Amino acid sequence: MVNAYYNPSMNEIVFPAAILQPPFFNVEADDAVNYGGIGAVIGHEFTHGFDDQGRHSDGDGNLRDWWTEQDAAQFKSRAQLMVDQYSAYNPIGDLHLQGALGLGENIADLGGVTLAYRAYKNSQAGKSGKTIDGFTPEQRFFMGWAQVWRIKYRDEALRRQVINGPHSPGMYRVLGPLSNMPEFYKVYDVKAGDGMYREEKVRVKIW
Ligand SMILES: [Zn+2]
Repeated sequence: MVNAYYNPSMNEIVFPAAILQPPFFNVEADDAVNYGGIGAVIGHEFTHGFDDQGRHSDGDGNLRDWWTEQDAAQFKSRAQLMVDQYSAYNPIGDLHLQGALGLGENIADLGGVTLAYRAYKNSQAGKSGKTIDGFTPEQRFFMGWAQVWRIKYRDEALRRQVINGPHSPGMYRVLGPLSNMPEFYKVYDVKAGDGMYREEKVRVKIW
């Protein structure tokens, strides 16, 4: 059993021991790669507590609307932008991702990578990160996340994944969150015209 989860009624995140192995966690890898892997997965589960479903439970696990109207309205408009972004992805034939179906997972991916990046930077305070194989620690962080989602689908399996959801196919779990993160643009010097570039006004930030 590898799959980690968030359980709203207990307000808990759970990581079966079997997830603590590559590509999620590698005791031989440097911190940047592990923060980008298991660190972002831990952040992903945290963020489920504040996604489109998790936000309806309070800290004691009770279904209760504990948000201000203003926060809820902001959340909904940002979430809609994310629904539209993912619905524009067209992995095969005329089939598009179902942005609404995958919303909670996609919010959790963006929140998770963002949280883990902050945690990594905090952990490095006062240390000078070294370049390995020509990659800076910050670049290796994002590579760690991308390596988690390396996958090759048969056409039929890809279609099934898109139709059944809710997890986006592996490549979109990388392309989606990273193309919204200012940190990614800076670290990889992403510019207009690059494959993962989005105009600033259509980038999403939820958490
Ligand atoms: Zn999830």
